[in-house]
Amino acid sequence: MTEKKTKIICTVSDRNCSVEFIESLYKEGMNVVRINSAHTTLESALEVVENTRKVSDKIALLIDTKGPEIRITNMGEEKGFPVKAGDEVIFEDNPLGVSGNGLLYTNYNNFVKEVPAGAKILIDDGEIALTVVMKKNERLYCKAENDGLIKGRKSINIPNVSVNLPAISDRDKEYIIWAIKHDLDFIAHSFVRNKKDLIEIQKILDQHESHLKLIAKIENQEGVDNIDEILSHCYGVMVARGDLGVEIEYQKIPIIQRQITRKCQERKKPVIIATQMLHSMIENPRPTRAEVTDVANAIYQGTDAIMLSGETANGRYAKEAVRTMTNIARETERELKPNFNLELKDITHPVAAVLSCQLVSATRKLPIKAMVFDTRTGRTGRYLSAFRPRTPIYAMCYTPYVMRELALSFGVYAYYMDPTQSKDEFIRSSINKLLSEKCFREEDMIGVVGGSFGPSAGATFMEICPAGLMIVPADNR
Ligand code: PEP
Repeated sequence: MTEKKTKIICTVSDRNCSVEFIESLYKEGMNVVRINSAHTTLESALEVVENTRKVSDKIALLIDTKGPEIRITNMGEEKGFPVKAGDEVIFEDNPLGVSGNGLLYTNYNNFVKEVPAGAKILIDDGEIALTVVMKKNERLYCKAENDGLIKGRKSINIPNVSVNLPAISDRDKEYIIWAIKHDLDFIAHSFVRNKKDLIEIQKILDQHESHLKLIAKIENQEGVDNIDEILSHCYGVMVARGDLGVEIEYQKIPIIQRQITRKCQERKKPVIIATQMLHSMIENPRPTRAEVTDVANAIYQGTDAIMLSGETANGRYAKEAVRTMTNIARETERELKPNFNLELKDITHPVAAVLSCQLVSATRKLPIKAMVFDTRTGRTGRYLSAFRPRTPIYAMCYTPYVMRELALSFGVYAYYMDPTQSKDEFIRSSINKLLSEKCFREEDMIGVVGGSFGPSAGATFMEICPAGLMIVPADNR
């Protein structure tokens, strides 16, 4: 059966992370394991990492930070306290205060100072809405807009209010350093507001000479507004529709999703569409028709990757959810039209860009069955992938971590290979490897993009001919 091109990310929790479980997700089409640091300790995250590595070195590992998020402090009463619409709720600044009985503290010590009268405060992913009626004597006086139960440690969103929380908390820093130490592949930073948030994390990565790549989670209006500068400072983007749908009116989410996907494609940045894609499968073996259409639409729009959260972290039908995504992806990709007219932006290697564009364009006129390239950084793969071609792209990577990075790029199947001494040797050994993996047959026409002057010079040539001809040694031709 043809492999799907759209990549699948599965959130895995320590409650269900056996090697057998991870292997079952991998067999169904998972490409990336995601660990959500908000719901784990470092010790249990390590179990997920170690078990994933036992399954395959091709599965990339991604960890989410918590980012600049605001939460209610711990509460005296475990159960929380009920509010009725119209009730008064008061906030005071004291991150060490114990919340309860109509008085709330948050982890952010300038909360009262920075939130203005008239603002909306949403608690627990919007379950409870408050309106700030007035600010007086260093207190915010709010009115509950609906009935509900306010519990300790629940999230707080303040739509359209920008607060000066630092980009990374001490806890986030600890997790980032842990991810570097354990050689994960991606850090998905939550609530990215602007380039400064990303520069701070990149500084830590650079200090540790880390290859980890940064994914910007876009989940509030500031992130949406600053998407252009954010794209200049990240490897890829996650459209985190869960928090986005709390921070921004839900009817705007589809448009934002489409706009961000298009921008990412032009700038060759992997894009992930996340949250509630198959939410009903947490409890049910079959998806709703609306969920199926949502997954298919994300693929039509040109996403690289689709993500499962609760469906695989604690759902009853995790394996079935991945299978469902794979089935939808395979079917939808048959209808997908490559974007031959795409104008690539931010090109750092013009020769690689021209060769990629020409090879993709050649697939319109010639029966090319596969595109093959070698890579030190994955760049040519991202150039080829941006066109969302129908023809599969085989990446021969000179480091295992670049092989895993490409687990987020649409249509790229990555393999590790030792660096070769010459162009002929690269072509012969990579085509032989892909023939032995049954990626194509000797009689199939193949397009190869590679470099003749060592890995650091990047792509310099393109060849198109049957695979069988490519493996004949030069002196036998
Ligand atoms: C989201 O909000 O959609 C998201 C992916 O982030 P988290 O799972 O951390 O809420």
